Amino acid sequence: MSAASPAVTPNQLIRKEIQALHAYHVPPSADMIKLDAMENPHLLPQALRDEIARQVANAAINRYPDAGAHQLKQDIRKVTQLPEGMDVLLGNGSDEIIQLLAMAVAKPGAVLLSVEPSFVMYKMIATFVGMRYVGVPLAEDFSLDLDATLAAIERERPAIVFLAYPNNPTGNLFDAEAVRRIIEAAPGLVVVDEAYYAFASDSFIPQLGKYDNLLVMRTYSKLGMAGLRLGFIAGDKTWLEQLDKLRLPYNVGVLPQLVASTLLAHHDVLLAQAESIRSERTKMMAALNAMAGVQAYPSEANFILFRVAKATQVFEGLKQRGVLIKNLNGGHPALTDCLRVTVGTQDEDARFITALQDSINQLA
Ligand SMILES: *Cc1c(COP(=O)(O)O)cnc(C)c1O
Repeated sequence: MSAASPAVTPNQLIRKEIQALHAYHVPPSADMIKLDAMENPHLLPQALRDEIARQVANAAINRYPDAGAHQLKQDIRKVTQLPEGMDVLLGNGSDEIIQLLAMAVAKPGAVLLSVEPSFVMYKMIATFVGMRYVGVPLAEDFSLDLDATLAAIERERPAIVFLAYPNNPTGNLFDAEAVRRIIEAAPGLVVVDEAYYAFASDSFIPQLGKYDNLLVMRTYSKLGMAGLRLGFIAGDKTWLEQLDKLRLPYNVGVLPQLVASTLLAHHDVLLAQAESIRSERTKMMAALNAMAGVQAYPSEANFILFRVAKATQVFEGLKQRGVLIKNLNGGHPALTDCLRVTVGTQDEDARFITALQDSINQLA
């Protein structure tokens, strides 16, 4: 009989860099006006909801999903207008695709490069897979600092570069020519993350095939399917077939495949909702700009970043008034006193603006 081994603790076993991470925090939002997560606030038309209900009732949920999601991929190709010869790979949200990409290129010492401030998952996922993360600061107006970015690419030789286009949490669309220069200079892959494509005036989808190292990633989360968890990456088959080996076989379930296909058949409904969110954004931008002490940043997404004195207290004041937005103060230094609000319905936005004015007045 062997002696009992001493109990192992997480501290001994778990990698140091994982112990140092903070789990992605999702705050409680029950009974709040929820403007913190870039969700589409609109319900689907009743007829479409009835159609989905019928399909779900008949779905073969006792069976594994189609591992290749053939129907859904075809539907995605149809609405996305991919250039000839380009393929797609699906993910359980685009977060999963970021992870697949990072896993695939995570050789010892390999670098994942992005800009800052940007989407926090790039850095987190680099840590998950043991890559070195390099974040190049954006200019003060949140545009790309092209010289600094090209210098970092030259110095670090990143295996992969992520650029959110439009950027989150700043909302702006980077200069397309600067992005092209980065794609041309990068020795590895460049992933243009178009999570907010439905609200933006430009896309790199038409550029696919012109650069060997370009992939374009999108999610349907911000267009109205956040609950389904579905994203995709488009690009040359020679890249995607490698990523496909790392993808867990049934990463997109029967119900998400079915419901997403139906929604894409009614893509016009979703695009009309996106259009109404864009016009709400214009109104919200005007209301923020008219408010003394508030500096709002231009947005091509379904949210607006703004700066206000005592941001954390303003954020708390909004919460007390039943409006949940995102507090970015205290995170990245470039985001001091910054808050981010998702564009909601006309009614939600009006209540947000009133609550914001009241919160600011109370602190004055
Ligand atoms: C929201 C977001 C994603 C991830 O969305 P999923 O819900 O995981 O598909 C990816 N990139 C950016 C920039 C985002 O803002």
